[in-house]
Amino acid sequence: MKFTNSFKTTMKWLMVSSFPVLIVYLFWGPLFPWSPIKPGYKRMEASWARVYMADSETDSSVYRLDEILKEEEAFHGLKFNEKFRIVILGKESNMKRYLPWLNGSGYSIKLGMVNVIYIGPNARTSPYGMEPYLKHEISHLLIHQNASSAKSNFQIQHQGWLTEGVATYFGGPHFYDRHELFELWTENGLAFDDLYCENPLEMGGRFKMKYTYYRFFIDYLISTYGLEQFQSYLRMYIRDPKKYQSIFMDVYGKDLSDILSGFKTYMSK
Ligand SMILES: [Zn+2]
Repeated sequence: MKFTNSFKTTMKWLMVSSFPVLIVYLFWGPLFPWSPIKPGYKRMEASWARVYMADSETDSSVYRLDEILKEEEAFHGLKFNEKFRIVILGKESNMKRYLPWLNGSGYSIKLGMVNVIYIGPNARTSPYGMEPYLKHEISHLLIHQNASSAKSNFQIQHQGWLTEGVATYFGGPHFYDRHELFELWTENGLAFDDLYCENPLEMGGRFKMKYTYYRFFIDYLISTYGLEQFQSYLRMYIRDPKKYQSIFMDVYGKDLSDILSGFKTYMSK
């Protein structure tokens, strides 16, 4: 193939002009996890994760990551199948620089398609500490890695009540206890059978309440029917998330509506 001189000049100009953008993205932007040099950050290898964290990081949970990864597999009844990266941002950083599409909000996030977890400064300095956020995002990533296809993962995003419920049950953060949630839920006139999960960024003030609601639904399933049954549900759900209602019947022998009415009674006790 022959290129004209003007085409070559345009390509050269594009490459030269995009070079500074690439450098900024690598060192202070969305490409940071793949940057060959990360000034101020040290690297730590765990069984399934490569962690980048500030040289001064002191949170003990990150140093027992191998143990946490084993606990994640045992609780979910699933196995990791690919190594992933965890970036724990320094106190002086901000999420907006690395994840500009989030507008700086959020405490932590999993980017399943690229096997990356970010723990932001808000999570590190929260009253709950970093551990719940770390466990929460790893739960999401483990489920993502076990999904049967990209399509399943897309559908799972639409059933946030399950993945957020599992992650919040297992890792936290635990915002309210059962009685506090029951009071808040009834004060706000919310129904106990609405599992719909909107985008967390659009939940505003309802965020803590809704995540705790999903958490207690998982709590109810596990404490009433057992962890093994729940793990079966999760494995079947991951394969075919759209069938989440009929899978309840297959695993628990009950309609979702019956299970939710039992859940309401459990919450009110
Ligand atoms: Zn989450």
